Amino acid sequence: MPAPVDRGAPVCELQRRLAAAGFDPGPADGVYGPRTRRAIMQLQQTCRLAADGIAGTNTLKALALLLPHRPEPGRRLSPHFKEEEFACRCCGMVRVNSYLVEKLEQLRARLGGRPVTITSGYRCPAHNQAVGGARLSQHLLGNAADIIIRDIPPGKVAAAAGEFGFPGVGQYSGFTHVDVRPGNPARWSGAV
Ligand SMILES: [Zn+2]
Repeated sequence: MPAPVDRGAPVCELQRRLAAAGFDPGPADGVYGPRTRRAIMQLQQTCRLAADGIAGTNTLKALALLLPHRPEPGRRLSPHFKEEEFACRCCGMVRVNSYLVEKLEQLRARLGGRPVTITSGYRCPAHNQAVGGARLSQHLLGNAADIIIRDIPPGKVAAAAGEFGFPGVGQYSGFTHVDVRPGNPARWSGAV
């Protein structure tokens, strides 16, 4: 296993990447100090990894997925979900929280293993605005997916997602919104 990043140029790069993903490691000074450590712990909490403040392999992988990037065609994030399924419908870029993928995989299994279609995953700011998304939508962060599960009505999917501990669940007539937002859980139903 490669050694965790701890000092110098790799730390500058890590700090820049943390900032680009929305965390605050302070200035990119190459010093793995308390602020950088705290930013790493916030990232780990966001992705529900053990919050040890160490930039190990899994943490760096999770960070790479959370940064806006172009998906690798065909790349699987889990047995049933490909990176490209989470991509923005307008620009093709993607951000995805690895914990969202893990939860979706578990929900899929729980609901009998039927295929899960993601109708909206990551939304870039322009696309989010175009579809009338909330200003601080979890879709902007790669924390959310709107899903349809074959043969299961959205109400049932929403109920299962709620029971199953998705922090955010929105029930709509044609799909279900699920997300892994940090902080307080949210439940709502909408019209669309
Ligand atoms: Zn876009």
